Amino acid sequence: MQFYSRGCIRHCPFCLVHDKEGAIHPVEPMAWNPRAEWIEVLDNNFFANPEWRWAIEDLKAQRLPVKFHGVDIRIMDEEQAVALNSIRMKGYIHIAWDLPQIDLTERLQAMTKYIRPQKIACYVLVGFNSTREQDLHRLRTLKRLGILPFVQPYRDYQNQRQPSQYELDIARWANRAWLFKTMDFLDYEPRKGFRCSAYMDEYKPPVSQKN
Ligand code: SF4
Repeated sequence: MQFYSRGCIRHCPFCLVHDKEGAIHPVEPMAWNPRAEWIEVLDNNFFANPEWRWAIEDLKAQRLPVKFHGVDIRIMDEEQAVALNSIRMKGYIHIAWDLPQIDLTERLQAMTKYIRPQKIACYVLVGFNSTREQDLHRLRTLKRLGILPFVQPYRDYQNQRQPSQYELDIARWANRAWLFKTMDFLDYEPRKGFRCSAYMDEYKPPVSQKN
């Protein structure tokens, strides 16, 4: 495991990183484990670190596959995408589309010019200020681009909130690649006699969220 930075440039309303670790700041990397078979990079926001270029070179010098977690697609530019693609990956590159109010479609399209979509996995937060239409828009966009999602129902800081049945069903559908790829959520039948299109029939977005 390795960190090149702590903190974050953002202050997302559902995340405690900025409160706990402050603004983004580079940190001295830890000593390498000589028996390591791969590297897990745990920075919250790797490319927001002003020293990310040095970090990329340091990772390359280890000659091990790398698993990235905190890749912020909202700031990703061509140089960063090319740098990311130059690293030997272990597993997926993890990005996130948590806030539906920000449309990441163009950013995702730009990223997939340099990095194969099969190498990307995208966290999608549901149950936190998003409508069901917005959840479907994000998931259908990812599907169109060939990117696998990982839906996470919102948990509060005390971990007392229980996800709704809708959130559990959309996570169950989206997080199983074969289900996600072969059918739309509205056609998914998680229980006998129940089709998920019923969620859209019953759902009326709050007035403030209507177009
Ligand atoms: S970008 Fe990620 S780490 Fe940073 S505040 Fe938002 S959720 Fe937390």
